[in-house]
Amino acid sequence: MDPILEIRHLSKAFGGIKAVNDVSFCLGKGELLGLIGPNGSGKSTCVNLISGAYIPDSGQVLFCGKDIQGSNICQRARMGIGRTFQTPKPFNGLTVYDSVYTVALQSCAYKEAADKTEEILEMMELADLSRMFCEKLPIEKRKWLDMARILANDPKVIMLDEVMAGLNPAEMEESIRLVRKLNESGISIIFIEHVMKAVIKLSHRLVVLNEGKLLCGGDPEEVMRNESVIKAYLGG
Ligand code: ADP
Ligand code: MG
Repeated sequence: MDPILEIRHLSKAFGGIKAVNDVSFCLGKGELLGLIGPNGSGKSTCVNLISGAYIPDSGQVLFCGKDIQGSNICQRARMGIGRTFQTPKPFNGLTVYDSVYTVALQSCAYKEAADKTEEILEMMELADLSRMFCEKLPIEKRKWLDMARILANDPKVIMLDEVMAGLNPAEMEESIRLVRKLNESGISIIFIEHVMKAVIKLSHRLVVLNEGKLLCGGDPEEVMRNESVIKAYLGG
């Protein structure tokens, strides 16, 4: 595998809690990797360590083969590491168009930013809603808008943290289709999800965390048949 992102022996504790405990895994170029595990197993902490929101106690994050420990969250975003938050943070008071356009403007001239915004809204199927104010968007579309805003930074990697939470089955199908579309456009994805059906459907490979530790990884169907995974999910 040709990795775009690699984490090596990453650890982070909060007080006495080892949220992430000596975890190593990598994300291949073009891969859609599912990161799963019970509540509190360290998934979001991993995302925060990779994005640069948290500084690890030990371990390394490599992006395109380069150790990025010295780079802060903004520098990592500019390098092409994007992430969503478990709770979408729409820009209240801005339209759908403007909330993407303002991000695009950070790296493009006016006209280029406008073209880019239109292209992204088209891709994320938000073009018809471009004049709507963000706070009026239904929850499902807010998550898509969140992704649209990340796309305006030209990410190479996107980490999606529980974007399926709270969606009904039809909305979930739509979201699965969109995540796949993003991946097929060439973006490598770490997909963190509680909804197993979505994870198994989408992921090329799974990595399972439990109590901060790497439990196992591999082919999705095989991983879901693994006894230690079943036990972790049943709280055994
Ligand atoms: P997951 O995303 O898998 O549900 P988290 O990474 O959010 O798990 O949390 C892992 C553990 O670390 C949990 O016990 C959680 O309470 C703890 N934790 C996460 N973030 C913080 C924080 N900022 N301060 C203190 N404890 C935290
Ligand atoms: Mg989480």
